[in-house]
Amino acid sequence: PGHVGGELRSGGGRMETHSQVVERLRSVFRSGVTLPEQFRRTQLTKLMSMIKDNEQQILGALHKDLAKPKFEAVLSEIDIVINELHYTLNNFKSWMQPEYVDKNLATKFDDCFVKREPLGVVLIIGAWNYPWQLLLLPMVAAVAAGNCVVIKPSEVSAATDTLIAELIPKYLSQDCYAVVSGGAEETKSLLLNRFDHIFYTGSQAVARSILQAASVHLTPVTLELGGKCPCLIYGQVSIAGVARRLVWSKFFNAGQSCVAPDYVLCSAATRDALLPELRQALEDFYGKEPQTSPDLSRIVSARHWARLMELLKRSNGKVAVGGESNEDDKYIAPTVLVDVSEDDALMEEEIFGPILPILNFESLQDGIDFINRKEKALALYVFSNESSVINKVLENTSSGGFCSNDGIIHMTLPGLPFGGVGASGWGSYHGRWGFETFTHRRACMLRGWALERLNGLRYPPYNDNKLGWLRWTASPKSSCSLM
Ligand code: NAD
Repeated sequence: PGHVGGELRSGGGRMETHSQVVERLRSVFRSGVTLPEQFRRTQLTKLMSMIKDNEQQILGALHKDLAKPKFEAVLSEIDIVINELHYTLNNFKSWMQPEYVDKNLATKFDDCFVKREPLGVVLIIGAWNYPWQLLLLPMVAAVAAGNCVVIKPSEVSAATDTLIAELIPKYLSQDCYAVVSGGAEETKSLLLNRFDHIFYTGSQAVARSILQAASVHLTPVTLELGGKCPCLIYGQVSIAGVARRLVWSKFFNAGQSCVAPDYVLCSAATRDALLPELRQALEDFYGKEPQTSPDLSRIVSARHWARLMELLKRSNGKVAVGGESNEDDKYIAPTVLVDVSEDDALMEEEIFGPILPILNFESLQDGIDFINRKEKALALYVFSNESSVINKVLENTSSGGFCSNDGIIHMTLPGLPFGGVGASGWGSYHGRWGFETFTHRRACMLRGWALERLNGLRYPPYNDNKLGWLRWTASPKSSCSLM
């Protein structure tokens, strides 16, 4: 009874059930130990040391999981977290401060403010494609906001999972933070417990079962999901520049990015101009034989490789670039397909691999209509030298993020919220947005005994005269007119 979940070994070699871990963290949270700014600062600083001390091991694990090039790993897994830590350490004290709000006459002598409070024990579930970043970035926010945290790495990226489970207890407070490893079954068992927030990164399919589990305890959930990010090219464009930026953002991490351009929409003329430039950019980046390039990641597992090969097999599009593959190496060449129709296999689901279909549209409105027929994407990209084109797409579509004349880059700026809308996700993080995600904004009004005569206006017996005065004192105008 009261025993939920399987046994696990958490930091320090303790054998504990999932429910024991959650209960232990909950009682530590209630003790208030995570509340002081200094405690949070110390833990964030330790997190920084953890990353700096172990850079080589982190790079090694990421290489083992995805053959991730050091260059990409440093940018998208290590430095992005270090930068978030610096940004948070420099700013979170001010984010913690009470926020005083405008008052009216009726509340003139009261203290009226928003108090930022941690939520409690929060769960962060990560995905395998950026297995370090996707756990650690939300963790920075959750720690800064003063929560106790359980993190659940993806079992698919096994080497990074093992490293995280080893390092977190070594550097951070074991009383406040725990790593729980495992796949679908362990996660389901973990989710039987009550958390104060669940932060999930992964696929839309699994998100449904996360929501079901959360509904039992009415736990609020942030969903960082994926989908098909469109890339529209229209009007006057610098085609060689488009090709380089498109190739970089699509084939970074072998296309296994939630914000990778999923498909291209352009006119037949643009496609014809683009193809040779894409070939050139690919050759410049990865050489004539991309399989021998150290700068191209591999598909994460044989299962994921087989899914992509099946999509390629089922597609009726014509391979214009690439198409080669090697199962033992979990390799798929950067591949571009043309003559892809809207009902093609490649358009049925998020591709999440190094395969880029090009679909043709002649008018900008057709492209916009196409995008609007689909679920709202995590990111939407438009390439054009014409600002009227970019503005038209921006004003007539919706997506989690939007970036013109580039791909992926918008998510590296901590001032911008990162997250989806509709089917691409709920909620956001990065910078202050992450702090707010893991924070309760408590509405506080600390009243004294001033203006009791004014208060008297709201007590019965009611009459129209009192109501008139009351409406005036409670209106925004009343505070201005007396100042
Ligand atoms: P996934 O859904 O298979 O796995 C994600 C996590 O869920 C893992 O930790 C896994 O152990 C757990 N899990 C798997 N099955 C489960 C189940 N039945 N019940 C409970 N937990 C379960 O996703 P993935 O394949 O690891 O990631 C790919 C997807 O994630 C893509 O759709 C991609 O676009 C999306 N993604 C989104 C972001 C973002 O920030 N928005 C970032 C990366 C990936």
